[in-house]
Amino acid sequence: MSDQTKLANCSGEKKAWPVYITIGNLPSARRNSPGSMAFLLLALLPIPPKFSKSSKADQCQRKINAATLQDVFELIFAPLQDVAHAGMAIDCADGKVRQCFPILCVLIADHMENVALHGLKTNACPKCQVPTHELETNAKNYRSRDYARYQRNKPENANSGSESNDDHVMSDNLGLGQNIFHRLDRVSASDLYKPAMLHTIYLGLFKHMMDWIEGFLKKHRRLQAFEDVWKALPPYPGFLVPKKAYGEVTQGQGKEMRNLGRSILGVLDVALRQPGGAQAIPFKRAGGCVRALINFNMMPQYRSHTPDTIAYMEDYLDQFHRMKDIFLEFRVTKRTQAKVEQATKGDPTAEKADEGASGPISATPDP
Ligand SMILES: [Zn+2]
Repeated sequence: MSDQTKLANCSGEKKAWPVYITIGNLPSARRNSPGSMAFLLLALLPIPPKFSKSSKADQCQRKINAATLQDVFELIFAPLQDVAHAGMAIDCADGKVRQCFPILCVLIADHMENVALHGLKTNACPKCQVPTHELETNAKNYRSRDYARYQRNKPENANSGSESNDDHVMSDNLGLGQNIFHRLDRVSASDLYKPAMLHTIYLGLFKHMMDWIEGFLKKHRRLQAFEDVWKALPPYPGFLVPKKAYGEVTQGQGKEMRNLGRSILGVLDVALRQPGGAQAIPFKRAGGCVRALINFNMMPQYRSHTPDTIAYMEDYLDQFHRMKDIFLEFRVTKRTQAKVEQATKGDPTAEKADEGASGPISATPDP
């Protein structure tokens, strides 16, 4: 597990990148309880300052950084390489000693870290070969990425007559550096990525949804009504009364986002009461879209799953994708927003053209 964090303010803008390790066969309640020491700090990596994208020196530096990252992770994983084949005797809780083969099986990180570690462009999925233009859809059934093949087909590794390459698959492969994991024995690099509630939903989809809702409320002049209800939320066991105005929560952390998920639907419902004639349909769709996302977020919180619960989850996600169009005009990146403001106002096609990068998939902060 890894998550980049800002160091204390006294060290300026410096950020660090801690990497934690835990073992897979722990009950999640035990793993997540603070006193259990289930997570151990494995490495604390420095994060180099940002570059100015264009200059050649920067490009060179970027290559060096990628190679260094590869070396560091190889060093970290070195002990795992030997035991993946030979195994090791491990004392088990029942008093027996067993021959075990510990391998890396899950990597929990946000999207930007995932693409950095997998050597991909930021708008590529680390798990499957879904093309960029389908990232915001409910696309399924794309093949897993074959990272070993990417490495073989890289210009410096390719020998004449190498395997045929799918165009988009190869263009996704930025060659930022190696996929950090592809040389690990008995590990499938494309299986390491697992969606995390914190990164995928709270800091990903929810953050986007908040922006969309704000835009929607402004357009329909319901923002004030919404803020009034938001501030009037009563305390309840297990629910933290929001201290900040809604607009400020946008910068919130996972905890605030989880809290938001518990109240947003009710608040929105009250704020959108008594729609005017033309507002009835958009209000209904907006409410439906948010409800689908909130329902989707409830399902993975179950402790166990059956085919039925999984079907519910897929159904809610489908609903969300079917209805999110209502927020389309508010789904713009900051870059696009600036461009639109600079250029003419009121040309909706200009907004849509640059939409590709604004989806949930790019919902995470820069590394
Ligand atoms: Zn995918």
